[in-house]
Amino acid sequence: MKHRAEFIEKIKKRLLKRRQEMLQELSDLSSEKVSDDQVRDSGDEALSLYMERLKTSLEQTEIDELNLIDDALNRISKGEYGICIDCGEPISNVRLETFPYAARCIVCQEAIEEQK
Ligand SMILES: [Zn+2]
Repeated sequence: MKHRAEFIEKIKKRLLKRRQEMLQELSDLSSEKVSDDQVRDSGDEALSLYMERLKTSLEQTEIDELNLIDDALNRISKGEYGICIDCGEPISNVRLETFPYAARCIVCQEAIEEQK
């Protein structure tokens, strides 16, 4: 299982880096909000409203992803990462490589998506 531990360590570094980037993006987004007042002053209410909405949905997406990263990091620290939360089988490296936040193996994930 040595390879697996190294693999997870690599994923962890990627997640931490991504987390850092996201926090940076989020703080950039919130600092941009201040300049919205300038747009409003110019009388372009519609544009301002549009930008506001765009940012809010962007922020939501970023916050959602941050939560996923935190979840994954949590599972790594508990030693549960890479193990399907439903069936307890190991999730393949390929899948984790593509979806580092995956909490389920492909079989269980597909089963859940079919239920929707
Ligand atoms: Zn599973």
